[in-house]
Amino acid sequence: MTKAIYDNHGRRISYLRLAVTDRCNLRCFYCMPEQGITYVPREDLLSYEEMLRLVQVLTTLGVDKVRITGGEPFIRKDMPDFLRALSRMEGLQQINITTNGTTTAALVPELARMGIHSVNLSLDTLDKDRFFEITRRDSFEQVMETFHLLLEHGIKTKINAVVMADKNIDDLIPMAELTRDLPVSMRFIEEMPFNGEGQHYDKLYWHHANILAHLKTAFPTIEKIPDPPASTSYNYQVPGFKGSIGIIAAYTRTFCGTCNRIRITPQGSLKTCLYDNGVFNIRDLMRAGATNAQLADAFTEAFQNRAKDGWEAERRRGFDRPVKESMAKIGG
Ligand code: SAM
Ligand code: SF4
Repeated sequence: MTKAIYDNHGRRISYLRLAVTDRCNLRCFYCMPEQGITYVPREDLLSYEEMLRLVQVLTTLGVDKVRITGGEPFIRKDMPDFLRALSRMEGLQQINITTNGTTTAALVPELARMGIHSVNLSLDTLDKDRFFEITRRDSFEQVMETFHLLLEHGIKTKINAVVMADKNIDDLIPMAELTRDLPVSMRFIEEMPFNGEGQHYDKLYWHHANILAHLKTAFPTIEKIPDPPASTSYNYQVPGFKGSIGIIAAYTRTFCGTCNRIRITPQGSLKTCLYDNGVFNIRDLMRAGATNAQLADAFTEAFQNRAKDGWEAERRRGFDRPVKESMAKIGG
């Protein structure tokens, strides 16, 4: 029988987003300050063994889908070995990866062989110079190579673009245009203040409704298509186009009512909401000698005290701890 675990608001928890490192080779404007962030000391990072163990415990509770993220996951040594071990884990139905694509190209055939379900590729522009301006690194060509290889190998591919005032608004329509001939899901994400510095805007102008209105100027026939269960994106398609377009209200938080996801940070902090401050540290429990049953109990208890939505989670942090940590420390 399939196990299922529910939170205190009746939402099933089935999806883990695991940030395997906080290290990254890019410095995206919306994620990190130019000088980077202070990395977690190596010994404080979860080991691969610890990650496999916690995923296995979560599968016994009914988690059947995992996303590997970071930092940049492929910066961590021996990542393919870890993915291979994960792909053999019983109870796990789906492994997805979010990557910046800078060092991923050579691994794409191997990812296809392992049966990786989908890859989200972060790409905010189709212009090489603008790519440099946003990421502060010159890796546009490598990312595009990864993109084409993912499609060639038949891996389900989504492109994640953060929408930033004065940075990439001119890219929105050309990026949506990619869906005309390619079977790709082009997703536009509201910018959140997880950048290591704090809010970039007094008021977010490029929220989901304005992103859609902007797309409609070029694609007036764009139409709503059904959203998958527990989806964070509102999904659309231009009739006749091969791909689809998603808009993610990450800042305005309109999707919390069906949220099925939890996060574990590179140093083992469990977040039951993206906007919370971490509810307990699973690494500390494991290193203190907890049994699998005790780990499962700790997860179960945390799921019974989940914030109703991202606004409540943010309030619980307290006003003295506003959201401003880098997304590389959380996983996105
Ligand atoms: N390094 C990988 C990458 O860039 O794909 C994985 C980690 S990255 C933190 C995960 C996702 O978070 C990326 O798609 C990125 O665009 C998104 N992200 C990072 N900072 C963000 C922010 N402040 N607002 C919205 N999305 C953000
Ligand atoms: Fe690195 Fe991803 Fe953050 Fe960009 S969004 S700095 S690629 S972790």
